[in-house]
Amino acid sequence: MSREILVTGGAGFIGLNFVHYLLKNTPYNVTVIDSLTYASHPKEILKLMSMPRFCFIKGDISSDKDLKAAMDRSYEAIIHFAAESHVDKSIKNPKDFVQTNIVGTYHLLDYLAKGYAKRMIHISTDEVYGTLKMNQDPFTEKTPISPNNPYSATKASSDLLVRSYFETFGLPLITTRCSNNFGPFQHKEKFIPTIIYRALHNKKIPVYGDGMQIRDWLFVEDHCRAISLIFEKGIPGQIYNIGGGNEKTNLCIVKQILDIMGKDYDLIDYVEDRKGHDRRYAIDSTKLQKELGWKQNSPFNEALEKTVEWHVKKFKDSSL
Ligand code: NAD
Repeated sequence: MSREILVTGGAGFIGLNFVHYLLKNTPYNVTVIDSLTYASHPKEILKLMSMPRFCFIKGDISSDKDLKAAMDRSYEAIIHFAAESHVDKSIKNPKDFVQTNIVGTYHLLDYLAKGYAKRMIHISTDEVYGTLKMNQDPFTEKTPISPNNPYSATKASSDLLVRSYFETFGLPLITTRCSNNFGPFQHKEKFIPTIIYRALHNKKIPVYGDGMQIRDWLFVEDHCRAISLIFEKGIPGQIYNIGGGNEKTNLCIVKQILDIMGKDYDLIDYVEDRKGHDRRYAIDSTKLQKELGWKQNSPFNEALEKTVEWHVKKFKDSSL
């Protein structure tokens, strides 16, 4: 039996957490392919490279030539995280998002069709469902997709490609759609690390619009366990939602972090809202809980404190 797993985007926030999870909790050998964009953690990859079970390939998943370098063996699974993932950047310059999120996913599907892996887990997002009104039930796997920004549109496009390769070619594909993650190794441009970084340096913390946008926060370690479970027991052709069950307004998150860090609310700075800003995301993970037995392990407050502690240490260490 092959004991190799290919992780795309394994130098990014969730991918890197997942690689650590695999190396710690499973016997698999792990190969990462990542083009090492600004969002990646090359130093962490360097640290991992001394481990015999870890292999790294610097490569772009939207380049057939680069991907070929990873296809010198057959994999038990491809876990596909690689993406351009920052909504604000997708509004300014969507081109890279189309290239990586759509073309890159196509190339992986092509290699799956050629038999290089036994299955692929495609990591998508709740943002493909669009936005919810306050009185609407959380997204289920049956909610129609309705993306509102270029990032979510490219992710939705890749989801449809994945669906088509399952329906047309019967390939062993599973899609997961998770809510907003938080935890170690998230890039400084994202919401929670930005708050921590700016609060640490007593800088104003920009809050879009009225700050009442609601997100459903998922601790990255719980997310990694969910993906591992789906990889072991998930059914091909299915979609699994992975939600934190922690609906919080952005303003509430800012205040909670300021409280943890002992900082004043005066640092909050309301700025013009993001274009096409989705008002509320909430995700129903009942299917994953009932069919595969997943449940969250990390209480939100504890996980947030741990996240703040990790980022404060990192920002102090690297004096960013
Ligand atoms: P990230 O931006 O932190 O990391 C992405 C990684 O992909 C980086 O290491 C980057 O170098 C790599 N990459 C980008 N383009 C590449 C290319 N063309 N070829 C090879 N590697 C490339 O992203 P993340 O937050 O870890 O997200 C991982 C996945 O989870 C993405 O697919 C994202 O859409 C999805 N997701 C993330 C969240 C979240 O809250 N972070 C929520 C829902 C879904």
